[in-house]
Amino acid sequence: MKALEEKIRREGQVRPGNILKVDSFLNHQMDIAFINEIGKEFKRLFADCNINKILTIEASGIGIACITAQYFNVPIVFAKKKQSINLDGEQYTTKVQSFTHQKTYDVILSKKYLGPSDRVLIIDDFLANGCAVNGLIEIINEAGATLEGVGIVIEKGFQDGGKEIRARGINVKSLAIVKSMTDHDIEFEEQDS
Ligand code: 5GP
Repeated sequence: MKALEEKIRREGQVRPGNILKVDSFLNHQMDIAFINEIGKEFKRLFADCNINKILTIEASGIGIACITAQYFNVPIVFAKKKQSINLDGEQYTTKVQSFTHQKTYDVILSKKYLGPSDRVLIIDDFLANGCAVNGLIEIINEAGATLEGVGIVIEKGFQDGGKEIRARGINVKSLAIVKSMTDHDIEFEEQDS
């Protein structure tokens, strides 16, 4: 998505540890007109899939998933990262290694909201080593649901998550794939439109 690549080049900041900060439009302030375009693009890319639920993980995935869900006309369900007294009944849980916070956390989803009749599109903001997406895939498998695809706003192609997940035959589409990044330059992989 060329408009996304241009926006990342204009507004993105490269931080130590291979972190790309896009707080001006995605991860802190959210540019809703632009995220609408992202939602439309996910709908175009997954138009052939029979999706009845979008799955994401708190916190940054939620806003993007909500806007995207309007184009698919389906509910979203988000996995939680903390146990809470509001989470009752049986739960799916798995452990995920956080890239940005450098720690392991539990990912929790109520069994009420995901089951064998669900055909799921995973949506997330970033794909790096693939831990977050793999955690969500484990939960989908445990639920007996069907994974239709994975939609990512920004993939860091120099990390291996995307390659490994695609190698398992999973339909991963990223709107921008960063090939390399330094303080003064961000390069993207060419993609078929
Ligand atoms: P992974 O689990 O694939 O290693 O990392 C993906 C998760 O870590 C995403 O949910 C995202 O929140 C966070 N993340 C990974 N890399 C970056 C990055 O460069 N910038 C930002 N803002 N978040 C990232």
